[in-house]
Amino acid sequence: MSPITRAEHPFRIIVVGAGVAGLTASHCLQKLGIDHVVLEKQADIAPPLGAGISMWPHGLRILNQLGCLQDIEKSAVSLNRFLCRGPDGRLIHDNALYTHVQENHGIGFFPLERQNFLQILYDSLPNKSPVRTGRAVEDVEQFSDRVEVRLSTGEIEVGDMVLGCDGVHSLVRSAMWDYATRTSPGLVQAKEKTSLKTSWKTLIFITPGIPALGERDLTVTYNDGFTFLVTSQPDAVYFFVIFRREKPFTWPKREHHTEADVEKLAAQVLDKPVTDQLLFSEVWKRRTRASVVSLEEYVLEHWHHGRIVLAGDAVHKVHPNMGLGGNSAIEGIASLMNHIHRVLPPELKQIRTRLDGSSMRNHKPSGTALNMAFAAYQKERQHRMRELMDLSTMVAKMHTYATPLHRFMANWMMPLLDDRRFANRVGSYIATAPKLDFLPDVDFACGRLPWTSNTDEKEEEEVLFDGILAEKSVAVSA
Ligand SMILES: Cc1cc2nc3c(=O)[nH]c(=O)nc-3n(C[C@H](O)[C@H](O)[C@H](O)COP(=O)(O)OP(=O)(O)OC[C@H]3O[C@@H](n4cnc5c(N)ncnc54)[C@H](O)[C@@H]3O)c2cc1C
Repeated sequence: MSPITRAEHPFRIIVVGAGVAGLTASHCLQKLGIDHVVLEKQADIAPPLGAGISMWPHGLRILNQLGCLQDIEKSAVSLNRFLCRGPDGRLIHDNALYTHVQENHGIGFFPLERQNFLQILYDSLPNKSPVRTGRAVEDVEQFSDRVEVRLSTGEIEVGDMVLGCDGVHSLVRSAMWDYATRTSPGLVQAKEKTSLKTSWKTLIFITPGIPALGERDLTVTYNDGFTFLVTSQPDAVYFFVIFRREKPFTWPKREHHTEADVEKLAAQVLDKPVTDQLLFSEVWKRRTRASVVSLEEYVLEHWHHGRIVLAGDAVHKVHPNMGLGGNSAIEGIASLMNHIHRVLPPELKQIRTRLDGSSMRNHKPSGTALNMAFAAYQKERQHRMRELMDLSTMVAKMHTYATPLHRFMANWMMPLLDDRRFANRVGSYIATAPKLDFLPDVDFACGRLPWTSNTDEKEEEEVLFDGILAEKSVAVSA
């Protein structure tokens, strides 16, 4: 494709990364009839990596619009109990959160094996051909009328914009920063780049079902400096041992973990109780695979520049203890797609079923219109993600007894909080999540808390969510 003829081509988006955000984006773009390609560096869409990924009702609502809900419900059972335990494994709090989530939203919280979840997202795509595996992106160049993306295979993809869904070590993000340095000096400050902070690492593994850990339970066992976080299903256990690092570090430093790190971290906790009956060593010996990953936390200041926009972990990453990072990636894609849809020229909306693009020539949003969509997406999402990051970090500190105050909150304050009130406040966050405005929202669950799409109501609910933070961070901020 010659760059000179770009104006003659239909509107085209280059999506980098076929993880949670990239696959969701491809599905949305297919529904919108927008020409696109999804470039994935790995050979496999769903490699056997990681452990579980849990879906909350608001993520499920979007996935239902994309036709994935039935497969998710076939692959997992929603959680029932949320058990918080002390370092000796004894039960501190049997929290009824998941019962209330079910009542509040008409649907529960579903843990799936990550590999299986990615496969479901891929299998549900109406057309698989836009997704190209084994294509590592090496560089992104922006021009006034186009973007060019250079691949490790030597190919160059040309489009109107790049959507960076390439995860925590995003190359697209670095290319966006480089472009900003050249064209808008001073815009992206060093402070923003070093806000990408790594304060935690986690040992992850999977075992077959273990009756002593239940079939539908989340167990969190608090400890000094680390936590066991265990999700059980009838046939599997997704196990995370999350360690607080003594010395956090920031971007661009990156740690690579080896098999020796896996064994070393496991050895540190072998004799620690997971419950009052079970030691870690008894679960560990049943693992089928294990790995170590660093856990970064950040919400960027700038989510887009020029013709590049970022989504998912490339732009925001939260501690995984609340299971909301992937849900947020899906939400973010829904929000971005809604805003892109709003700036599409009417002709493009009308002929969106013409995937060959033949009649779409010259009907594309201008660079200014795309920028308006990107800015609206950032405005809608940034505050929400900052709140979530702060809350997740605070909970992680509580679970690892970061200070005497965090220990007090974990052992005494949380058990005394009214579970329903807590679930309602989490529920206000769930109920105000976006859905895909350009697709029908048919046949989806509804519970006590209505789904809210009106902006005024959203603002009211967000204040409520601020309330949880305020309530829980009083002591911590001291
Ligand atoms: C231990 C742990 C547990 C978690 N549990 C949950 C949970 O229960 N619920 C939840 O909602 N979230 C959870 N998360 C968070 C969730 O996994 C992430 O937020 C989510 O995967 C982000 O999706 P993404 O598409 O942005 O990134 P990813 O899923 O990481 O996908 C990025 C993709 O980009 C590809 N890529 C990278 N660079 C390039 C390149 N240069 N060229 C081409 N392709 C490239 C990668 O190969 C990858 O496929 C958890 C995270 C961790 C670490």
